Amino acid sequence: MKTLKTLAAQLDVGQKTSVELVRDYLAAARADSGLNAFLWQDEEAILAQAKASDERRAAGRAGQLEGLPIAIKDNLLTKGLPTTAGSRMLEGYIAPYDATVIRKLKAAGAIIIGKTNLDEFAMGSSTENSGYGVTKNPWDDSRVPGGSSGGSAVAVAADLAPAALGTDTGGSIRQPAAFCGVVGLKPTYGAVSRYGAIAMGSSLDQIGPFGRSVNDVRLLLEVMAGADPAHDATAVGLNQPAKTVNDLREITIGVPKEYFGEAMEPGVLTQIEQTIERLRQAGATVIDVSLPHTEQALATYYIIMPAEVSSNLARYDGIRFGLKVKQAGSLLDMYKQARTQGFGPEVRRRILLGTYVLSAGYYDAYYKKAQQVRSLVKADFDRAFEQVDVLLTPTSPTTAFTIGAKADPLSMYLADVNTVPINMAGVPALSLPCGLSNGLPVGLQLIGKPYDDFMLLCIAEKIEQIIGFTEQAKRSETI
Ligand code: GLN
Repeated sequence: MKTLKTLAAQLDVGQKTSVELVRDYLAAARADSGLNAFLWQDEEAILAQAKASDERRAAGRAGQLEGLPIAIKDNLLTKGLPTTAGSRMLEGYIAPYDATVIRKLKAAGAIIIGKTNLDEFAMGSSTENSGYGVTKNPWDDSRVPGGSSGGSAVAVAADLAPAALGTDTGGSIRQPAAFCGVVGLKPTYGAVSRYGAIAMGSSLDQIGPFGRSVNDVRLLLEVMAGADPAHDATAVGLNQPAKTVNDLREITIGVPKEYFGEAMEPGVLTQIEQTIERLRQAGATVIDVSLPHTEQALATYYIIMPAEVSSNLARYDGIRFGLKVKQAGSLLDMYKQARTQGFGPEVRRRILLGTYVLSAGYYDAYYKKAQQVRSLVKADFDRAFEQVDVLLTPTSPTTAFTIGAKADPLSMYLADVNTVPINMAGVPALSLPCGLSNGLPVGLQLIGKPYDDFMLLCIAEKIEQIIGFTEQAKRSETI
């Protein structure tokens, strides 16, 4: 089980070639195919990338991520490769261009080692909503890996790839990272270009990295972040940290009481409390803070997000995009059939909800009101950050739940209570493994100031050293 940093060093000194490295990962994925982490892995095409990378290195043109395999969530467009967003609607769709993040990874020399499974159009918290079967948690295969970026989290946790990309609209990077015992970052809204990410909720979506260490996540963020004026006007990039943190004694950590609700599993609470105690002993100042609109954040997310979903998914009509229906009586019938057959129940539910809240007569009562509440959620964070450098919460109130346990959609929505407010406010947050509860990983969420993602990572790295959680994945040294 190696980090990107270690693998890069091996490639640099010629201890291994990228072709050899990629072969090992492909063999591991073949042996572990029951986890259903990947939707696409064409060994020949992947090895061809590795071969080209070895040639670049030999020619003295090695990039920042030269020869390193990265798994990609299947809602990010990858030129010439299938991109399904986990939906039958896009079965057989081949992306005609690369997302900006993919273009940047390729330019840095990275190898796309596979496209990973997800909840359909990134809607869900368990990967059970995928049109291509559930992904299993490598810690216990009767449990979900979290979602919606479940495949990416599993690829890293089971050592099928050293790092991966996901997307996070309400927790889809952080919650699966927590459930699988790896590190996952949702950058500040606007840090990373969304061009070529299949949109779910455009004012909430952000692409981010998974890795085995905070340092690996930083390596990827350095490559991914930046303005993209030609393609995404909301992408502006990040601040470079004004200072570095050498010691936790310089840091004030805020603990918001609203994130420790009744739904919290006792084992999760114990791990988080023990971690806080250790950070105190290491010299950090830890204070209680309040984010009073936390409860409203979840309720208003489930208005704003479906509204944006209903608009973004209008393009899948079976003509411009999506499933082609051969036998239809009329144009309307064609739309109906394509959208009924192509979309799963959760996606249809959200389109209906979103269409309702945007409809004439309801727009002011729901959508507009929700946007007003959203600014209060953001103001809570602004106020807290006047006092603290970073906020600390559990990433999820529970550890990975059993497959099928949250069949009722409302119970699934409630699982996002600690991650959704962060997307509503647009601030950066990461999940860091901090221990085990009943043999399953517990994630610690660290929330930072907007555009200060590198500072957040700097603090997280210090905290990672204190936690010293070494069992970051189920399997030991396979590669
Ligand atoms: N679980 C949340 C939802 O279902 C978040 C999904 C995401 O971040 N893409 O909406």
